[in-house]
Amino acid sequence: AIKKPAAKTPAAPKAQTHALPSYLDHQHLGPWGVYLQQVDRVTPYLGHLARWVETLKRPKRALIVDVPIEMDNGTIAHFEGYRVQHNVSRGPGKGGVRFHQDVTLSEVMALAAWMSVKNAAVNVPYGGAKGGIRVDPRNLSQGELERMTRRYTSEIGIIIGPNKDIPAPDVNTNEKVMAWMMDTYSMNTGATATGVVTGKPIDMGGSLGRREATGRGVFTVAVEAAGQIGLGIEGARVAVQGFGNVGGIAGKLFAEAGSLVVAVEDHTGGICNDKGLNVPKLLEHVAKTGGVAGFKGGEALPLGELWGYKCDILIPAALEGQLTKANAGKVKAKMVIEGANGPTTPEADDILGDKGILVVPDVIANAGGVTVSYFEWVQDFSSFFWSEDEINQRLVKIMKDAFATVWQTAQQHKVSLRTATFIVACTRILHARELRGLYP
Ligand code: GLU
Repeated sequence: AIKKPAAKTPAAPKAQTHALPSYLDHQHLGPWGVYLQQVDRVTPYLGHLARWVETLKRPKRALIVDVPIEMDNGTIAHFEGYRVQHNVSRGPGKGGVRFHQDVTLSEVMALAAWMSVKNAAVNVPYGGAKGGIRVDPRNLSQGELERMTRRYTSEIGIIIGPNKDIPAPDVNTNEKVMAWMMDTYSMNTGATATGVVTGKPIDMGGSLGRREATGRGVFTVAVEAAGQIGLGIEGARVAVQGFGNVGGIAGKLFAEAGSLVVAVEDHTGGICNDKGLNVPKLLEHVAKTGGVAGFKGGEALPLGELWGYKCDILIPAALEGQLTKANAGKVKAKMVIEGANGPTTPEADDILGDKGILVVPDVIANAGGVTVSYFEWVQDFSSFFWSEDEINQRLVKIMKDAFATVWQTAQQHKVSLRTATFIVACTRILHARELRGLYP
């Protein structure tokens, strides 16, 4: 008789019990829990690469830093700072830095992971990272903001760098903050390193088109998705949550294309006009007053009513966890385009899917920002700068091609666009992981 070879698969390690939950635990729901559920949904489609999937379920590196600064009144304040590098299999870490009072480790871990997926989805040669400080920057003076930014940059300086991890703007950070970060890193290392951050001012290594890039990407992907479901952009009714760098620019591009921006909500309040809001005037109002509340060209919209507002295209462009099982049932739009990172919970995804509403996920819809960040980084390395036309053309091409791949993958596997984007992206990440092999 032929002797059977010994079983190849080793026995699974014994289940361990722990007194306290791990920081990776599902139970700590929050954004990281949402991300883990999204990974579980893609695992059946990863084929032999599923062997590596655990890689995606834990960040490679998470740094927590104390950021002490002297306040203008002479007291000392301490802020919680984070920089998480989720994955660097395909290239250096890349992702923004957020200043917000609700920043947590779970949130930064999820945002870093979504950057890994996003960067792979549009095939830019980066891993995923994210940073944040738990602070409401509206309570800081300019001097305090600068000292906090510089101390934070210095603290995370041990893990960032043009070839290691490249921060960029995110919620409540901008070109000015990037200039301070670039200067601090450069002073500490002794050489001007423009490529250490992207989203910088144009006059010191920034890229034309970067500021508008996320909104332009949202618009480009929305046009492609609308084409697939036979929805015309001209005359389409658009509702937007968040009217900052993403929602504001996207809203402007929709209005220029002949859509009607009928409802907008932000942290100050809501505003609506069935004939279409005057978007350039609304943007001026937001620049002057800090929000949409009080805008004269429409009626006030009570908080939360945006979700059920009659529209064709709904764009959450604020923070994560906005479309939930509590409000997803009210949505009347034909498609949801995620300008924000993580705005839709998995339960809401299912509700929208069952209603036949197309959800174009963050990890493709808002990838325009990091795509032009990639252009900025390439320009900094080569010290050769491109025209705005070149940048926009290349951006549009990358976004259209990426969307086409995702659309085709969704058709092939009969899955949502989110799962399809995760299939494309996670396959790229884990394939790189496999090619590199485990060290040691
Ligand atoms: N913060 C943006 C995002 O969430 C851009 C990141 C970058 O440019 O690195 O995609």
